[in-house]
Amino acid sequence: MPELDDILLQKLQLLEAKQQKRAILSGFRHDSVYVERDGKDYISFSCNDYLGLSQHPRVIAAATQAIKKYGAGAGASRLVTGNSPLYSDLEKLLAERNGTADACVFGSGYLANIGTITALVGKNDLILADKLSHACIIDAARLSGATLLRFAHNNHEHCKMLLEANRAEYQNCLIVTETIFSMDGDIAPLKELSGLAKKYNSWLMTDSAHSLSPLPDLDVPIIKMGTLSKTFGSYGGYVCGSKILIEYLKNAARSLIFSTALPPATLAASIEAIKTLRDEPQLIKQAMDNAILFTNTLGLASAQSTIVPLILGENDKAISASKILAEHGFLITAIRPPTVPENTARLRFTFSAMHKHDDIKNLCAIIKGQGFI
Ligand code: PMP
Repeated sequence: MPELDDILLQKLQLLEAKQQKRAILSGFRHDSVYVERDGKDYISFSCNDYLGLSQHPRVIAAATQAIKKYGAGAGASRLVTGNSPLYSDLEKLLAERNGTADACVFGSGYLANIGTITALVGKNDLILADKLSHACIIDAARLSGATLLRFAHNNHEHCKMLLEANRAEYQNCLIVTETIFSMDGDIAPLKELSGLAKKYNSWLMTDSAHSLSPLPDLDVPIIKMGTLSKTFGSYGGYVCGSKILIEYLKNAARSLIFSTALPPATLAASIEAIKTLRDEPQLIKQAMDNAILFTNTLGLASAQSTIVPLILGENDKAISASKILAEHGFLITAIRPPTVPENTARLRFTFSAMHKHDDIKNLCAIIKGQGFI
């Protein structure tokens, strides 16, 4: 029998040949924009800390206080002894913010999707997911055992066709979409999807990992999932919804039940980040203005969110563009398949409220000068 390492080496060589081999580089974020790698500072346009809250003095102070008061770790899952009182404070804030009766905090956004989708649907059910849905939505759908059909990206007409052709064969149906797409920065047609959920007796679940603001009111109840690791600069995932939904998830979501609770300092950071955003709502406009400055300067369609992709096609193009920008002091990670579809390798620019206008303009000048667009 071949050695495990021999087989794995072959697989790694295959990835290398396709320029899809990844390396996890060590990097030190010492403020919300700068990242230090190998002793050099880069201005990052690759972090998801859109509002700079991971580095906000209020957030840091709250986390420090909590670690001193409660210690470093939770010690057990939430259902055993890990359910710090900070959880109920955080869940109350999340429910209020999202206009729902209740909320449930998970270990991460990934775990929230895995736990929720597998708890809600199973063998006789149908999931309709946007083609560009995040890997953890797809993983969850596969793990659930439900039939997974994917509708063309942001194409509610295609979703409707799939519902029309398939809905009747299944017991329950869950329509899932990201609200702002992580690698494209565009916005889901939520009004249309909620109309379809109503018409076809289906549930709608939204993944708002990259949204800066809560969803607008729609005329169906929504299972609202999000993360605390991006806009709120902390860590953890959540689902907001009705009291019954949340009680059910606490009883059935295996990624919640069988995983250790979040460290208290993380919960305290999330709570303070939500309160800070309540006090400093202009952060959202600042981040959006920065993204729009970038697209306007480059003559691109105006940014719809704080994520702007520059699709370059082949992997080597994206890798070499990323290297050139790094030589100029900018950190923009090349995004390649399987994170994005084949031949759509890209530079994914993310904008923070903390970026300086001059840095954005300098970045644009290099992008233009190098002929990336
Ligand atoms: N959903 C989407 C759309 C995401 O982009 C991500 C993270 N990249 C997640 C879920 C997972 O969230 P977390 O990082 O909190 O696990």
